[in-house]
Amino acid sequence: MIAQRIRVTGVVQGVGFRPFVWRLATELGVTGWVRNDAAGVEINAEGSEECLRGLRERLGLEAPPLARVDSIEACAAAPQGHAGFTIAASVAGNIATATAIGHDTNICTDCVAEICAPSGRRSRHAFISCTHCGPRFTLTTGLPYDRRQTSLAPFPMCADCAREYADPGNRRFHAQTICCPACGPQLSLLDMSGAALAGDPIGEAWRLLKAGAIVAIKGLGGFQLVCDARNARAVTMLRERKGREEKPFALLLANAASADEFAEQGDAERELLAVAERPIVLLKKRAGADSALAGVAPGLAWLGVMLPATPIQLLLFHEAAARPSGVAWLAAPQALALVCTSANPGGEPLVIGNGEALERLAGIADALLLHDRDIVVRCDDSVLRVQPAGPQFIRRARGFTPRAIKLARSGPSVLALGGWFKNTVCVTRADEAFVSQHVGDLDNAATCAFLEQTVAHLLGILEVEPVLVAHDLHPDFHSSRFAAHFAHERGLPLLAVQHHHAHIASVLAEHRHHGPVRGLALDGVGLGTDGQAWGGELLRVEGADWQRIGKLAPLPLPGGDRAAREPWRMAASALHALGRSGEIATRFASMPGAPTIAQLLVHDINAPRSSSMGRLFDAAAGLLGVRQLVSFEGQAAMLLEGLAGAHGELPPPCDGWQIAADGQLDLRPLLAAIADCAEPGYGAALFHATLIAALAAWVQTVAEAGNEDIRTLVCGGGCFLNDILSRGLIESLSKRGFKVLMARQLPPNDGGLSLGQAWIAMQTKGV
Ligand SMILES: [Zn+2]
Ligand SMILES: [Zn+2]
Repeated sequence: MIAQRIRVTGVVQGVGFRPFVWRLATELGVTGWVRNDAAGVEINAEGSEECLRGLRERLGLEAPPLARVDSIEACAAAPQGHAGFTIAASVAGNIATATAIGHDTNICTDCVAEICAPSGRRSRHAFISCTHCGPRFTLTTGLPYDRRQTSLAPFPMCADCAREYADPGNRRFHAQTICCPACGPQLSLLDMSGAALAGDPIGEAWRLLKAGAIVAIKGLGGFQLVCDARNARAVTMLRERKGREEKPFALLLANAASADEFAEQGDAERELLAVAERPIVLLKKRAGADSALAGVAPGLAWLGVMLPATPIQLLLFHEAAARPSGVAWLAAPQALALVCTSANPGGEPLVIGNGEALERLAGIADALLLHDRDIVVRCDDSVLRVQPAGPQFIRRARGFTPRAIKLARSGPSVLALGGWFKNTVCVTRADEAFVSQHVGDLDNAATCAFLEQTVAHLLGILEVEPVLVAHDLHPDFHSSRFAAHFAHERGLPLLAVQHHHAHIASVLAEHRHHGPVRGLALDGVGLGTDGQAWGGELLRVEGADWQRIGKLAPLPLPGGDRAAREPWRMAASALHALGRSGEIATRFASMPGAPTIAQLLVHDINAPRSSSMGRLFDAAAGLLGVRQLVSFEGQAAMLLEGLAGAHGELPPPCDGWQIAADGQLDLRPLLAAIADCAEPGYGAALFHATLIAALAAWVQTVAEAGNEDIRTLVCGGGCFLNDILSRGLIESLSKRGFKVLMARQLPPNDGGLSLGQAWIAMQTKGV
């Protein structure tokens, strides 16, 4: 008989780990106890040497579905002669926090069966969960993970729930979120004056949706606005009330089979839709989807689809299907298709509070389906799509935060504040990087405040004090100003990181890649070291060192930043660069400022230069007449991609580029071909085909020009969300002998900047 202290680290709290240890120990005849502490899970085990070895092995191999075991370490202890095996009380202790809160997941099949059963304690219970499923991150205030540190703290367990909680044979043994209709949170349906509507909240909400109303529903990380996606009037009304925005809406469907009607999907897409994290998955739209779902995602090649992530969402589909019992109905296609979009009026952060919902969603929603369990952490839906190399993030949030990204090495903690668009922040602890949920665009005070809350929350749950603060080179971003303020208050050093260097470093960090690489950064805009707007860059990157070895031939941005919202201005700029300024006023006669813009370009007034790839897409969209004004960043490029995709196979590239001796890529011949193209679909396809050929030739020429032939190419920047460009470039460069690295655990766009900044900071001398 020997005794051991076994320490398990990783995601081991809030995932049913202690009951799992209890079952294993009981089965093996091991005595002692298991408990949570700030470092993870601690086990005091007594038994034969063989039994303890078996216990340690099976801890890693058979861990519960939501757990992630990073390490299992054992040391000898003095035998106490325990009679059995127990789950001991958690200790907060002074041990450095090295554990992580679990992520939010969809309800498991066992819980679905229970909720759909016509009778039983949890029939139609909107807050069902167990140790294998349910909310975690969004309702947890701190570690260790215990009910008192979640927003279920105000709901004491009833006797029945307490019995299940204490029963080791029960699926809810030590499930911190256990509750039932008798003791748990309560659902209610309110009108916009705050008065409760009579009747069953789910049944009444479904009745309202059927009648064309907009219902705001409290989700895991915030409120969502929901309406019938097949009702064009309801969709139009939602767009009008939300401020006529044109961003695509996501679709909420009962299951993957229900998406076949609107979109193409393979096994990889079906699998991704059904993962427990329940992200929005972008699917290729079928012809006819836009007429069946008028106004949902007009003109775009992609349709965002998600499956129910919460019991409330599932219950709406259950209601629409006339409350079938069992789980079989969930395998068959369901007719109900709901628009489900973030309740973030005015581009401000998601609404999370009940009072806030009544106030901020007045005039948008017709009713609120909510409950009295607080959302602790605001968290948007995640968005992914399937690529040949695996899923690609477009937005990383609910379900995936606060999962750590393993780094190549350990180091002191750093804080990185990210960029301006699609902001995220990153905190490192030892060899792990914790990238926050999507914060948003820092163009309003509320989102800026959310950034500050996110920093405080992340530092709090990780219990670390950063030694350095990294931020974007642009001094005027709120993220940069907050970095300076934070560092000043604590007397910490600051590090400004160039935007495109950070894009490349972000990919290097997650791939744990060593050694020098070529970096191809393609995006909308980032401040360069020369004070100009960059965005089409070829870099040499090695750790914290980098050089710019190539760039796109810059185009003037007539009128400055405004050019980013008005593709016709970039088209005018392209015409000017082609020596065709005389055409501007007539080609863009419908634009009131056209003659003035032509003058700005000719006299080089208020026309700063930019090497941005995003603006080149804008120019092409403007020249082809696809779009003259946009309502959100990247819209012109997305429409162009949609047109190229609809055109079919890409045409052969045209003779559209020149590579100068200094590494500059000049795409004016391509712009000339586009300017004279009468057919937008063909023009969009030709633009993509030629761009792929030009970029591949450019990378190869520059790689072979110097005295070091580096064959690892790292791609970063928002342009890599363009599926045609990404796939084409990977294929072409692989053929030319390059190993291509792309973002996998984070989005390639500015949402990944904070990780790159943090990784550069960790490799900077003196850190
Ligand atoms: Zn469950
Ligand atoms: Zn109960």
